[in-house]
Amino acid sequence: MILQDKVALVTGDSSGIGRATAIAFGAAGAKVVFSDIRGVEGEETADLIRETGAECLFVKSDVSSEADVRELVQKAIATYGRLDCAFNNAGINLAVKPLHEQSIEDFDKIMSINARGVFLCMKYEIQQMLTQGAGAIVNNSSTNGLVALPGISPYVASKHAVMGLTRTAALDYAKQGIRINAVNPGPIATDLMARSADQIGITFDDLGSMVPIGRIGQATEIAQAVVFLCSDAASYITGQPLAIDGGYTTS
Ligand code: NAD
Repeated sequence: MILQDKVALVTGDSSGIGRATAIAFGAAGAKVVFSDIRGVEGEETADLIRETGAECLFVKSDVSSEADVRELVQKAIATYGRLDCAFNNAGINLAVKPLHEQSIEDFDKIMSINARGVFLCMKYEIQQMLTQGAGAIVNNSSTNGLVALPGISPYVASKHAVMGLTRTAALDYAKQGIRINAVNPGPIATDLMARSADQIGITFDDLGSMVPIGRIGQATEIAQAVVFLCSDAASYITGQPLAIDGGYTTS
């Protein structure tokens, strides 16, 4: 229960890593505010969080909309009075093809959710954390925020942008009690990864064979690291990328 009595916010929780982390926050003792652009699946996540015994609030919101993000943070504070932890997770990937075939529309959409979304979330989360003099934020980047992969230039650009935002914000607020880190997952068995793998005709087993540990990762393996980075056990860690990738970026 290392987040006992903390208030934690997560974006993009209808499935995958976001849902696993919202549940892990609840199991660690936090009150959980979670959000997604999809409504019905968000309610399903609520049931899973409540099974941990945690209180939770679902707010339907689009991370690329300033009005939605402002309302999300306001509702968290109005309901639970404070905001201690945030996991800015919502993200997408679209077409897998070389840069000259990528559409401008896809580039703008990926940047607006993956990069602008993280910027907007941090902007409003940090405003509240400054009034408290404390807070911990984790942004979901990717191994593609550390190294490139062919065929997904808009995604790789957006995830490098997340690292730039993370590192700069960590320095901006280091003296004000707010720690800001990133997780950099390798291939994780989620809907997003299934869609990307389908496009290039490979399976999760194929992906696993490219990873030193020999298997694809599970969403819960990211969730546990996010809980740690948000907890006081990580009190001297800020501005860091944490690759959770079975050794992929080491090889
Ligand atoms: P996922 O598709 O299961 O989950 C993404 C969630 O984000 C969905 O619930 C979706 O509805 C939500 N979402 C999409 N657009 C949104 C928006 N505009 N506003 C709010 N919510 C929105 O995929 P996932 O793999 O769990 O992805 C979560 C994060 O992890 C993403 O940022 C992704 O880039 C990152 N990531 C995933 C992997 C992987 O292998 N799966 C690896 C590295 C990083």
